[in-house]
Amino acid sequence: MSLLVVGSMAFDSILTPSEERSLLLGGSGLYASMAASFFTSVRLVSIVGNDWPESVLHDMQRRGIDTRGVYRDATQKSFHWTGRYSANMNERESLATDLNAYANFQPTIPEVYRDSPIVLLAHAHPDVHLHVLEQLRGPRWVVADTMDHWIQVGGDSLPRVFSQIDALILNEGEARLITGKDDLFQAGRLLQQMGPKWIIVKKGEHGALLLGPDVSVALPAFPTEDLKDPTGAGDSFAGGMFGYLASVAGTPEDHLKQALAIGTVMASFAVESFSLDRLVPLEKGEIESRFQAFRQMLNLPGIP
Ligand code: AMP
Repeated sequence: MSLLVVGSMAFDSILTPSEERSLLLGGSGLYASMAASFFTSVRLVSIVGNDWPESVLHDMQRRGIDTRGVYRDATQKSFHWTGRYSANMNERESLATDLNAYANFQPTIPEVYRDSPIVLLAHAHPDVHLHVLEQLRGPRWVVADTMDHWIQVGGDSLPRVFSQIDALILNEGEARLITGKDDLFQAGRLLQQMGPKWIIVKKGEHGALLLGPDVSVALPAFPTEDLKDPTGAGDSFAGGMFGYLASVAGTPEDHLKQALAIGTVMASFAVESFSLDRLVPLEKGEIESRFQAFRQMLNLPGIP
């Protein structure tokens, strides 16, 4: 099954405690579709400006990412995001969110995308998410990802999105920002009351928490000593998780734990370099080996 991804394509300027890099390829849609493309065919909906290289779109197409839903606004520059990480890289601050072409993103979903069974709505204005949902024909599973900027400016549209989705992905800080609750279980249960049955809370180096109707699963992050830049970890996590879910037969609910582990592995690769530099040359065999290592790490012997 194909995965429909809606999200940003951006130039990122990143400040980590040890390095500064400008105008790197990034964006929630780009990271997520790239990570998902290792598992399934991807249909991407996004917008770029007049400065976005055509060659990147061709590279994406070669990887099975359908870019017929990527629009180009010839009158503006592409989205440019600037972020700075804290000393331990666990927190970050958005220094500038220059939406440029992304500000006018009201995408028409290509006809051939409209029957997509699994849909990942990555970072975008909740009105964009609503506009996309109106155009789809009965998707089986919709997951939305959000971030601080859209929580702050999204107003009433955010709860309207929540009422129409199956799963919500967000990080700890965002869960607290929306619910006002410090305790993540309480925050998760409150979010479930707003609509999504499944809540996935990303906790950076501490892994991820999946809360379902009668189930809760916590997985650690895959320990990588090679942390260079956490940008895109969340999107690669979501892309890996839902790309995998789109690739397996049967009910998505039955495969969520496995998908959570795949997302964790994809995020661990994304943070090992700036931009998509680790994801681009990544091979399926490396994903499989790391997944095996992750499984072995979690295989606890019973108490004798
Ligand atoms: P992540 O680190 O996975 O949470 O996502 C980082 C990516 O999100 C970066 O590549 C940014 O270009 C992109 N991004 C940052 N702010 C926004 C925003 N307000 N809307 C859409 N994408 C964004």
